[in-house]
Amino acid sequence: MARKITRVIFRKDGLEQKYNLTEVTEELYETKLKGFLFCPNETCKARILFVSGDKVTYFRTWKSKVVDGQVVNEHISDCPYFVDHELGERSYRRKSPDIYYSISEDHMKNVLRNAFDRIRHPDKFKKKPPSEDEGKKRPSSRGRIDPTLQPSGHAGLVADGATVRGEKEPNVYRKTLDELNEFDYGSVQCICGEAEGLTKGIDYPYILLKTTSGKTGRILFSEAFAAKNRIQYDNLDFYGQYIEVVKVSGQNPLICCIGRITKDNQSEVAIVIEDHYALRIENKNYYQIVDELQ
Ligand SMILES: [Zn+2]
Repeated sequence: MARKITRVIFRKDGLEQKYNLTEVTEELYETKLKGFLFCPNETCKARILFVSGDKVTYFRTWKSKVVDGQVVNEHISDCPYFVDHELGERSYRRKSPDIYYSISEDHMKNVLRNAFDRIRHPDKFKKKPPSEDEGKKRPSSRGRIDPTLQPSGHAGLVADGATVRGEKEPNVYRKTLDELNEFDYGSVQCICGEAEGLTKGIDYPYILLKTTSGKTGRILFSEAFAAKNRIQYDNLDFYGQYIEVVKVSGQNPLICCIGRITKDNQSEVAIVIEDHYALRIENKNYYQIVDELQ
């Protein structure tokens, strides 16, 4: 299996610049990068394409040509990104580690509510399996979803990609702060923890999480968050105020959020979120919190 391509080299007119998958938008690709992207392996000159749908984006190598009955691979033979072109497009999409499936707002909401209920109301889950209360999206298809449509890709954030129509959204793994370990770095997961408070920090605000075992984590708001959620970003204090209000009642509020897990030097782990709906405190979204405080 070829190594997943997460960054590429843009080469044009003697200029050379690296791009991460998360930095490339369809517009940037169409107006500037198309035709000038190459394998991240400096010694390899394979051409790379950016593919974008509604919910999934990824980099892939150009389809190889067949010359005189021989498959000509774009990558040099010892390139770690060398791909086996016998895979058809469909199985390529299902198997490729290049692909992140991003998660819709509705899917995030369901995952977050479910995570909250599993911690706060575990008895709810004893008799029947968890039911998604958004029945309108999946009317009577339970158990009838074509398993070949199930993406095997990784959960990604909105900046990563777009929908492949008709496919089910990926599982978002749910963990508590205590359950996270180094293998989780880089992945997108639903993390639950107890909020200590909102800190403005020197450079940027964050929410500090703490567990009874003493592990700490920080919820960070990405640049994409600040750009896409300007009102919420300017008013993060509401989160801080609400955490303090709940703490008065004697317990730390439970936060569930969906973000990318990263290393952090100021706490043991950081969860980077990109949208206000990727975070719920005591199962309340931003608007419900603002409402309650006013
Ligand atoms: Zn290569």
